[in-house]
Amino acid sequence: MTTRTPLLTLNNGVQMPALGLGVFQASPEDTTTAVEFALAYGYRLIDTAASYFNEREVGEGLRRSGIARDEVTLETKVWVSDYGYDATRHAFEKSVKKLGVQWLDLLLLHQPLPSRFDLTVQAYRALENLLADGQVRAIGVSNFMPDHLRRLLAETTVVPAVNQIEVHPFFQQSELQHLNAEHGIVTQAWSPIGGITSYRGGERRTFDDATILDIARQHGKSAAQVMLRWHLQEGRSAIPKSTKQARIAENFDVFDFELSRDQLNAINALDTGVRGGPDPDSITLETFRRVIPEA
Ligand code: NDP
Repeated sequence: MTTRTPLLTLNNGVQMPALGLGVFQASPEDTTTAVEFALAYGYRLIDTAASYFNEREVGEGLRRSGIARDEVTLETKVWVSDYGYDATRHAFEKSVKKLGVQWLDLLLLHQPLPSRFDLTVQAYRALENLLADGQVRAIGVSNFMPDHLRRLLAETTVVPAVNQIEVHPFFQQSELQHLNAEHGIVTQAWSPIGGITSYRGGERRTFDDATILDIARQHGKSAAQVMLRWHLQEGRSAIPKSTKQARIAENFDVFDFELSRDQLNAINALDTGVRGGPDPDSITLETFRRVIPEA
């Protein structure tokens, strides 16, 4: 470990490490050891979700690390099948019980439900009340596009602290990032090193990109490290996922070099405008119904 991750100050004054560990597609067996290792290595932010079905193992990793609960930022997400005021309050109870904690640092709505925006708003009101009750330290959203964000802002009171969206060199969503910034919303990049350009079997992987590899060579760093440095220097939070110890370490060893403005601009120029994940407007209760079990 080189040094502690820099902190971002959210729009309600709460501070959060900019760099964390993601655990999407981490099997329950791998999750505990990945989280335990990451925390021992210096990570202090873990991003999970009810729909990753590994909250219990994230909690176990936290306990095994021996690191005090209040030193770690724990972030999870409510899945769409739990939207609605009472259902979302109950989703919070399910998540904290599985994680084995008393409170959450950051609770997000995982997706907008454009066809049932009424339910999305009710779910967000539940988050607002959890925040008012002191059960979560900050609330936010994920995969909200500009029109979803504007609708939410018009119908609710608390401005989200975070919007977690797909951002990697090949898909950057600059307009949305600007809108987030206008409202003081931190952009948190999912698939920050472009994992989705790789594990979905795409033709162009960020890891093989000539521009990124060239910059990496100039610094004696890896492509993943360059991409993470790019996020941090552009003011974003990033939550790279790995279950391999060497990569968890590699993804955190990014505090001993700096990209130049030209290098940042060269990466900014790689945007293709093509998303890797599902179009948020395609998410419906019918197509994405997953039942989140009781704790
Ligand atoms: P990432 O960009 O983090 O890439 C992860 C992939 O890259 C994995 O296949 C991993 O494999 C591999 N990898 C990790 N580190 C390296 C490295 N240094 N060199 C080469 N390969 C590497 O993609 P994710 O999609 O997983 O996104 C990260 C996190 O964002 C998720 O875990 C989740 O927490 C969040 N997320 C949120 C979404 C949302 O809708 N809100 C959607 C998707 C992700 P291995 O594990 O084998 O090392």
